[in-house]
Amino acid sequence: MNVLVINAGSSSLKYQLLNPETGVLLAKGLCERIGIDGKFTYKADGKAAKNAVDVSMPTHAEAIQAVMDALTDPENGVIASMKEIDAVGHRVVHGGEAFNKSVLITDDVLQAIEDCIPLAPLHNPANLTGIRACQKVMPGVPMVAVFDTAFHQTMPARAYMYALPYEYYEKDKVRRYGFHGTSHKYVAGRAAAMLGKKPEELKLISCHLGNGSSVTAVDGGKSVDTSMGFTPLAGVPMGTRSGDLDAGILQYVMNKYGLSIDEMLNVLNKKSGVQGVSGVSSDFRDLTDAFEKGNERAGLAVDMFNYGVKKLIGAYAAAMGGVDAVIFTAGVGENSAAQRMAIASGLEFMGVKMDAEANKVRGKEAVISAPDSRVKVLLIPTNEELMIAMDTAALVK
Ligand code: ADP
Repeated sequence: MNVLVINAGSSSLKYQLLNPETGVLLAKGLCERIGIDGKFTYKADGKAAKNAVDVSMPTHAEAIQAVMDALTDPENGVIASMKEIDAVGHRVVHGGEAFNKSVLITDDVLQAIEDCIPLAPLHNPANLTGIRACQKVMPGVPMVAVFDTAFHQTMPARAYMYALPYEYYEKDKVRRYGFHGTSHKYVAGRAAAMLGKKPEELKLISCHLGNGSSVTAVDGGKSVDTSMGFTPLAGVPMGTRSGDLDAGILQYVMNKYGLSIDEMLNVLNKKSGVQGVSGVSSDFRDLTDAFEKGNERAGLAVDMFNYGVKKLIGAYAAAMGGVDAVIFTAGVGENSAAQRMAIASGLEFMGVKMDAEANKVRGKEAVISAPDSRVKVLLIPTNEELMIAMDTAALVK
């Protein structure tokens, strides 16, 4: 079975063609500058080097057509015709309270995704455009929507409610939704496989640490709390996002500098986080380099990030009444041994004991805690595309 996984942005479209049963990746690529001119970069597994071509892409439909042409190219393609694509899985950012799992796309589903646009005004419209473009170019192929928020719909009210007047929830759907759900679900599933246990038997804390970061408590296979909130701005400090802060700061800073709410939010989303604190970069590698050259603020930024994640591990262990394993994933979690060590050290009191040797690993599944650590610490590379393909396959079978 072959599933095409699509992640559509407003002017870009990423895809992977993969086999959800074996996990084998057949081809992947990226269409950029859609609606401007069009740039297409793609790579077929086992074929010639990466290709980069200019293709006219006035809309997402031309981008999908370019993807089809590349996949079925007699020389560099990986399938003979579109008939070899059994289904398409679409990443959709926001499913609101309407979706607690992935679904086959119907007209009603499209309408419900549209109804969630106020919750994700930048992302959902782009995701819808991608779905409609695929429906145009690939009529009759079953399509599935996989939501970033769906995995977190199992959170209890005490975790997802904000302590605001209740009508903001009732009337306006203001609540914690959480994001990165596909990633947290994937690594939680892999953790159970690695530990030889059923998901229902495990209490896990999943740390997705990349440019955007979130930490999730997974109890018995279900998300019970997560650090991102109504939007992906909440939680730990991120590359350029502030993470949690005292809302009173907004009034103080906006009044002092005459900022509008849009300008303030731009600061919180794009100029804060480790970039804002360090003044150096949003990339953790740059920060480590800068700190080694004596830049104290770069060191402070990384320290604040690590501390933020560590605090959530403690909080979620308390929330679940224990923890069996802590998982590290995404760019920082998969690659930075130093940050994993900084985050997970000093937690011996709660049964977490790292193994410095085992932690010297990057980008592959590994147990990085000491053999006698009561709580296992796991490195698990995330694979959101494979998770989307697996959900898609399960629904179209
Ligand atoms: P995104 O949220 O954009 O998907 P990724 O999960 O790809 O992000 O993570 C990107 C981040 O991973 C970058 O900010 C970079 O700092 C970090 N990263 C990648 N490699 C390393 C490394 N070797 N050491 C520390 N951080 C790394």
